[in-house]
Amino acid sequence: MTLERTLSIIKPDGISRNLIGAVIGHFERAGLRVVAARMRRLGRPEAERFYAVHHSRPFFASLVDYMTSGPVLVQVLEGEDAVRKNRELMGATDPARAAPGTIRREWGESIERNLVHGSDSLETAREEIHFFFGAIDVCDRTDP
Ligand code: ATP
Ligand code: MG
Repeated sequence: MTLERTLSIIKPDGISRNLIGAVIGHFERAGLRVVAARMRRLGRPEAERFYAVHHSRPFFASLVDYMTSGPVLVQVLEGEDAVRKNRELMGATDPARAAPGTIRREWGESIERNLVHGSDSLETAREEIHFFFGAIDVCDRTDP
């Protein structure tokens, strides 16, 4: 098992419902560490680019509306097997189908308003981290 990094986003519903601490606590208790974080508002072009893989899906415009409806918290999580572990902690896309105890099951409102994003592979994680952060933003645990 190697140390990995993955991109996590607390989506606008998580911010407006004041769940930042609850969500990050979930990650920390599972052994993931926040090594970069920034709150920001996504513009439409940025949200469209981030979710470009879904551009032909029927829910795309609505997804972009949702992701631009308020600030998000973008963060890099580090830990053993971080990509898979983050996805496991998030739960299935549809909160109704997510396993008990997962973030989406606990707080997600619908298949769209599901509170968190997580990279789905190590390769996607690299691209997504690069999308939001430069090397100088990521603070390794060995940093003074
Ligand atoms: P994410 O990429 O946000 O981590 P995911 O990998 O579990 O979620 P994807 O299939 O990549 O799911 O979908 C991206 C996002 O699009 C979902 O998190 C959700 O907000 C929205 N979405 C996915 N499927 C639907 C759907 N059928 N109807 C409405 N919105 C959807
Ligand atoms: Mg996805």
